[in-house]
Amino acid sequence: MGPLTNRAVIRQVMEKHGFTFSKALGQNFIVNPSVCPRIAEEGGAAPGVGVIEIGAGIGVLTAELARRAEKVVCIEIDSRLLPILAETLGDFRNVTILNEDVMKADLAAIIAREFPSMEVVVCANLPYYITSPILMSLLEQRLPIRSVTVMVQREAARRICAPPGSRESGAISAAVRYYSEPKILFPVSRGSFLPAPEVDSSVIRLDILPAPPVQVEDEAAFFAVVRGAFSQRRKTILNTLSSALDLPKDTLRPLLEEAGVSPGARAEELTLPQFAAISNRLFDRERS
Ligand code: SAM
Repeated sequence: MGPLTNRAVIRQVMEKHGFTFSKALGQNFIVNPSVCPRIAEEGGAAPGVGVIEIGAGIGVLTAELARRAEKVVCIEIDSRLLPILAETLGDFRNVTILNEDVMKADLAAIIAREFPSMEVVVCANLPYYITSPILMSLLEQRLPIRSVTVMVQREAARRICAPPGSRESGAISAAVRYYSEPKILFPVSRGSFLPAPEVDSSVIRLDILPAPPVQVEDEAAFFAVVRGAFSQRRKTILNTLSSALDLPKDTLRPLLEEAGVSPGARAEELTLPQFAAISNRLFDRERS
C-alpha cells in the first residue's frame, strides 16, 4: 500500500471498504505529508513514551506516532473505520484501537491499564465540532499526562492560546491557562485535508502544569466567575457579573475593588490572578 497521505490510496481504501466521510463526526483526513511527522515530533512521541490519539481516521497520524512512540492507544468513535485501520496499521505491533466516544471513555483507567509507568502524551487532529469540550474534559480530569498536542481551527487556536488580558481571550483561554501553558506550534492550510474544510487550522500544544498558576479557594466558584465574566463580553465586569452571579451591584462593587479590579473593566482585560482574587473574595463572603 502507498502512503496514507496519497489521495489515490485513500480513495482506493475507502472504495474497498465502502467508506464515506461523515461530516457530523468531523472527518477531514490529513493529506499533507509534512504535517503528521511534525505533530508526532513536537507532540513528544518518542521511545518510552505512550501516546493517546483521539480519532484515528484511516491512521495517517497514528502510523507516524507508532513509528516513534513506545505504544499508541487510539480512541475512535466510528466503527466503520475499524476494518480499514486493521489493514492500514496491520504492520504495527504497538497500536491499540478502542472503538469508543472520547467524551465517555474512562481515560484515567485506560492510562493506568495501557501505560503502566510510562510517560503519556495526547496527540490528535481533533474533530472540530467538539474541540473545546474535548480539551476541557482532558484538562479537568487532571489526567497523568505531560502534554496535549492537537490540530484545531485557526481561530480556535488563537482563542485557546490567547493570554488573559488580551483582546482574543475568553473563558476557554483562562481555563486552559489554569491547567497548562499553551503554545501555537505551526499553521496548516485547509488544502492539507481531504475533504478540505472551509477554514485553515493550527497545531497547538498545551504543556500541563504541575499545579495551577493561581491559588483558588474553590474551583467551582473560580470557573463560575470566569464563565460569568465572559457571558456578555461587551458589558462592564460589574454589570456582567452582577447578572451572571445574581448579586446586587452594591455588594459586588467593593468586592471587585478589593480584588484590584476596576468595576468598569471588560472581562478580556482581566488577568488570571484577578479572576482568582474575585472568586476568592466571593467564596470568603459566602462562608462568613
Ligand atoms: N487522525 C485522522 C487524520 O488526521 O487524518 C482523522 C482526524 S478527523 C479530523 C477526526 C477523527 O475523530 C475522525 O476519525 C472521527 O471519526 C473521530 N471522532 C469524531 N468524534 C469522536 C469522538 N467523540 N470520540 C472519538 N473519536 C471521534
